[in-house]
Amino acid sequence: MKRGFIHADLWRSEKDAFLVEDGLFQKIGTSDEIEAACGKEDEIIDLGNAFVVPGFIDSHMHLLNYGTYLSNIPLLDCRNKEEVLSRIKSGVKTAAKGEWIRARGFNEELFDHPEMITKADLDAISTDHPIAVTRACGHLMTANSAALQAAGIDETTEVEGGVIDYERGVLEEYAINLVTNSFPALTFERLKDIIQKGQKELNRYGITAIGSDDFISLSDDWETVLDTFQKLSYMEELTVRVNEQCEFPSLEEFAKFLDAGYTTDVGDDRFRIGPLKLIADGSLGARTAALKEPYADDPKEKGVLILDREGMMPWVKLAASYNMPTIVHAIGDRTVDEVLACMKETVLENNPLHAGLVHCQIMNREQIQAVCDMKLNAYFQSLFIDSDARILNERVGRQRAESSYPFRTLAEHVCASNGSDAPVEVPDVLKGIELAVTRRSLDGSACMNPEECMSVDQAIESYTVNGARAFGMEDRIGRIAPGCFADFAVIDQNLTRMDPEKIHTAKVIMTVMNGETVFE
Ligand SMILES: [Zn+2]
Repeated sequence: MKRGFIHADLWRSEKDAFLVEDGLFQKIGTSDEIEAACGKEDEIIDLGNAFVVPGFIDSHMHLLNYGTYLSNIPLLDCRNKEEVLSRIKSGVKTAAKGEWIRARGFNEELFDHPEMITKADLDAISTDHPIAVTRACGHLMTANSAALQAAGIDETTEVEGGVIDYERGVLEEYAINLVTNSFPALTFERLKDIIQKGQKELNRYGITAIGSDDFISLSDDWETVLDTFQKLSYMEELTVRVNEQCEFPSLEEFAKFLDAGYTTDVGDDRFRIGPLKLIADGSLGARTAALKEPYADDPKEKGVLILDREGMMPWVKLAASYNMPTIVHAIGDRTVDEVLACMKETVLENNPLHAGLVHCQIMNREQIQAVCDMKLNAYFQSLFIDSDARILNERVGRQRAESSYPFRTLAEHVCASNGSDAPVEVPDVLKGIELAVTRRSLDGSACMNPEECMSVDQAIESYTVNGARAFGMEDRIGRIAPGCFADFAVIDQNLTRMDPEKIHTAKVIMTVMNGETVFE
């Protein structure tokens, strides 16, 4: 059966209709032409002049972490302790006997009366269910007696790099891993459920393809994750195309992966192996992004460099020998220097393998020039502007802020693709487009160097064409053209003709992936 979509306001096209068959765009034309090409048994959908763009591509996120966040009890909006406890109580009511109860997102500093959640609070709710409640920041967790027992923690337990307050059931940093490692093992069924929750939400935002970093996000068991994605893809149950950004717990595990015949581009049109992913520093919010000079608001702190050039080199070289590019999480300028030094030695002219830099935040002009000269792929997140615009000057000082988040410059010189880093940000593409264009926090209180504002067209490109290029799939996704996969989003307003400061109020009304409606 063919599907004819007519009366569409197509981005970058004079035509107003298109025909979809066998998962592909077959023909672009006028509404009359497309209607004429449809037979009695075919479906004709009148879009009523709504705006149609290629399916959005979120070039860097964490689907399993995002699906997990959605599956747990969300606490981000709780403003008092009672509310947190009552949500956990209702979670317990609907859980199966003895099932783990997990919640995330409380922040006692935002409570009317700042008061910590303790083991006693959670034991009062249940001693049968293990309960683990993570703070918004992810660096602190409260566990009840059953959870501590399941994790093998007693009065005498000590953890290097972690703190255990057994009496109050409060765990910090590496102590948290004792609990998360005792969560039920990853199985196909559990992962499938998490993936389905995540992808359903992505489709609501018009997203039909993602670059996702999942292998070791829930445990070190990357093989089960890989196997699950491959099965779901084969069963055509993925409603987003996944380009996997592969992370490994050790170089030995990475070698095992390569030995098994995996490398970039292995897979099919729904699940494919993407680049190797390395993490070289922390985040600006936690002041763990590694800077050349100290933080402006903490003169003793320069952040945490997790991998320097020597640390990266064996990974990057091993990957390159299998034609696999490396992309590196680098937020601070000290980290960017290390990545550039490593890339200078390993990346070929014009970067044919698509090596890249993830985040592109604190950078000086020399570094930006080097990225442009080497044609490194830039994976950026305009969604970060909403919160970072408010803290950037204070955190790194005006001079460093002036050349930071250089999204327009990157978009004009290299393949610059946009994403959400979900669950760090909600993967709301329309909000991301607005922020790329205005560079102003949504409450209007702060603005980042306005010469780096993108045009609406550039911002849409960063979420479509450029994502496709970053994945090496520009001939199949990111465009509405005959022969490309029929992945597209329908939006209630033309983004290029509306007030840019209102773009976040536009709505995705339909998402189609591989010719099938996945959200309406
Ligand atoms: Zn990330």
